[in-house]
Formats: sequence, C-alpha cells, structure tokens
Amino acid sequence: MLHKRESIRNELLDEVFASSDLSISMPKYRIPETEHLARHAYQVVSDELMMDGNSRQNLATFCQTWLEPEVRQLMNETLDKNMVDKDEYPQTAAIEARCVHMLADLWNSPDAVNTLGTSTTGSSEAAMLGGMSLLWNWRARRRAAGRPAERPNLITGPVQVCWHKFARYWDVELREIPMEGERLLMTPDEVLKRVDENTIGVVPTLGVTFTGGFEPVQAVSEALDKLEADAGLDIPIHVDGASGGFLAPFTAPDIVWDFRLPRVKSINTSGHKFGLAPLGVGWVVWRDAADLPDDLIFDVNYLGGDMPTFALNFSRPGGQIVAQYYNFLRLGREGYRKVHQSCYDTAMLLAAEIGKLEHFEIINDGSPQAGIPAVSWKLKENVEHPFTLFDLADRLRVRGWQVPAYTLPADREDLAVQRILVRVGFSRDEASLLMDDYRAAIAHFDRHPITVPMTEEEAGSFHH
Ligand SMILES: *Cc1c(COP(=O)(O)O)cnc(C)c1O
Repeated sequence: MLHKRESIRNELLDEVFASSDLSISMPKYRIPETEHLARHAYQVVSDELMMDGNSRQNLATFCQTWLEPEVRQLMNETLDKNMVDKDEYPQTAAIEARCVHMLADLWNSPDAVNTLGTSTTGSSEAAMLGGMSLLWNWRARRRAAGRPAERPNLITGPVQVCWHKFARYWDVELREIPMEGERLLMTPDEVLKRVDENTIGVVPTLGVTFTGGFEPVQAVSEALDKLEADAGLDIPIHVDGASGGFLAPFTAPDIVWDFRLPRVKSINTSGHKFGLAPLGVGWVVWRDAADLPDDLIFDVNYLGGDMPTFALNFSRPGGQIVAQYYNFLRLGREGYRKVHQSCYDTAMLLAAEIGKLEHFEIINDGSPQAGIPAVSWKLKENVEHPFTLFDLADRLRVRGWQVPAYTLPADREDLAVQRILVRVGFSRDEASLLMDDYRAAIAHFDRHPITVPMTEEEAGSFHH
C-alpha cells in the first residue's frame, strides 16, 4: 500500500522529461495500452508540433496565421457549439445569417435582405455548392427545352484544385484555359472559343492561385452578353473570390466583378483568407433565391425545429463563424481597408526590392488593381543564374522562411515562379528581415554556384 502511495507521489512530482512516460518513446501507429498523465501527453504532442515550423514565416499560405486575442477568446467560448444545430444554438445561426447578408451587401447584391447563402468549411466546399447549382440549373434548362443533358462542361482560367475536384466528382468536363506565353489569365476571347450549349457556366477567379492576378470578370461578362444577343446562349458566371472577394470591395472598389453584373449568379470566398477569420470558414452567396435550385436543399427535423441545410458537411464548429462576425464588427469596412492596404503596401515594396535584384523579373507586383497582396516573379530568361528558384526556396528554409517555388500549370509547365503572400501579421520589419535573408541566399550561391540544380520535387513545394 505504502509502495503504491509512494509511486503516485513520485508520478506527481516527477520532472516531466525524467518521467516514466517521457523517458520512453510513445507508440506511433497503435493506441497505447495504458493511460498517461495529461501533462506528459500534452508535452509529447506539443513538442512534436514544434517541428511543424512557424506559421508566421510561411509566406506560401493564403490563410490566416495571426489572430487577435479576442478571436482566441471567442474560439474558446464556442468550442462546444455545433453550428448545424440551429435549434439549440439559435444565436450562432442568426450570426451566420447576418454574415451572409453582410457579404451579399458588400458584393452589391440587388436584394441583400432576401439573398441566400451559407457558411462552409472554406472555398473548396463553397465552390462545390456553387458548381452544383450551375450544374442543376443547366440540367433543368436543358430538360425544359427537351434537349440532352448528359455532357456538361465548365470553363475556367487556370484554377485552384477545388475546381478539378468539382469536375471529377460531378463528372463535368473541365475546359480550363491554358496559359500561353505571357498570358497567364483567362480572357474573353479564350472563353468564347470554348463555350457551347453544354456549358453550365464560366468561373473567373479573383486572385489566381499561381500568380495572384485578378481575372477580368466584367469583360468576360460583357462578352457573354454579346454571345447571348447574337446566338441566344445564356451562360451564367460563378466567381471564385476565395481571396479577392474580401479584397477588391475594400481596396479596389472600382473593379466591377460582383453582383453589379447581372450574369454573376453566385460567389464564393474564404473567410479564413482575407476575411481574417481563423481556419475553417468559407462562404457562398447566390444573387437570387431562384439561382439556388430547391432540389439541393434538405430539411431535417431531428435536431428539433425544421432546418433547411445545403452543405456537404453536417456537424461543424460554430466558432469560426462567430469570429468572422466579430471581425465584421471589430474592423468595419474602414478597418478591412486599412489592414489590406497595408499588406498591399508591403507587397509593392517587396516587389520593388526583388525587381532591383539582377536575376528576377516581376510577374505580379502586389498592386490592388492587379490582384491580391502577393508578389510573384521568375528568373530572367536567356541569362545564366548560379541557382534555380528551387535552390533559393530551399536555402531560405535555413532561416525558417517558406517562400514557395513551383512550375506553372499547362501550357507553361516550363516556367518556374516564386511567390510571397503578404498577410496581416507580416510587418514591414519582417519584410526587411526577409529581404536581407533573400540577398544573403543569393550571395551564398554567388560564392557556391549550384552545379546540380534541385528539382521541384526535392524542393517540396506546396502552394495550393
Ligand atoms: C484557396 C483557394 C481555394 C480553396 O479555398 P479553401 O478555403 O482553402 O478551401 C479555391 N480557389 C482559390 C482561388 C483559392 O485561392
């Protein structure tokens, strides 16, 4: 008995790293047989996560890595709230609905009060929902006209992988406009070349993943207006505003890309990107209730009350939605404009600095009219360089920076680019530290020129 008491006392007083739990290696691929002290298990898990790298130095991601203490507090307070349970958590549901109206209003919906939309886990789920409504509406139009509805196609510029998923999961032919020479975005002419009666819609991206550029939604919409007048084909637009939906309204309000264009039927955005909410929230909003097919909405009664649901997921945390609403109140339009403008200013400064270095040519200069607060660049062509962009990306990792290098999609797979995403939390001071390290990396390769360049696979890029 005494022995047992003694051992419990020892367990409680053990120094964590000298404890019996931490002086052995925990099993990795099967659940351990016995319990461990919470303090010990926490230390093991927390220490392993240390190896993940520092998210604030990850200049590859579009997602939020800096959050106000109040956001963390709200996330804590809402850990137990399931947003799907709208009967039990009616205020979370009301807050979600308010966010939808606020976004519809931000995007110049003709009727922001009666608009339909929903929160999602991110732009990927939102894109699926937008794509599905295009597909269902097209099928209904075809059937009503007594025409076959078997071979749908969707036209996009160079898109994020979520649209490849949409096309494959729903068996839609993806007509992705390839990049060509210096043209790295969708153009109206390229859209018109691919449109036919089986086109369910056109998806321009406001903030293309690969370069950061905005696609010309208005020009595409006008070209489709003319097509309708000439040939009677009425092709709807869904805008992938994953990044741009939360940028252009504040920092480039003159760009007409949203519900001001009657052809734009739905828009998706990522709350956790430039919406400044924590990871795990996106939004999709329809122009008009009639643009969201009834057939896609389910009613469930088993949570108490009758709940319409249109989403791929069911249970989901409510905190991200609450934090999104907090941001709307906290920042207002003015705050969003200030936060984003300061990111653009930093991006343009970086573009100017990188452009000054002899090796590079800027593709996206981070200006609010051209795209998102990102800088992308390539090596000057027809010049010898003592490194590749993959070598440079790898060298920067020595100081913890993640500045991805990657090759572009079809038909510019030959062209490698590097890209920096400037997000809130990446200060002017950090930008100048990064530039010091960038110049030091180049100086390193000047002293030690690369003889066998690193491949894209070895550099392990991730940019989606
Ligand atoms: C990030 C992104 C997506 C996917 O969004 P998630 O919120 O990560 O699911 C889709 N499209 C574009 C243009 C993006 O930038």
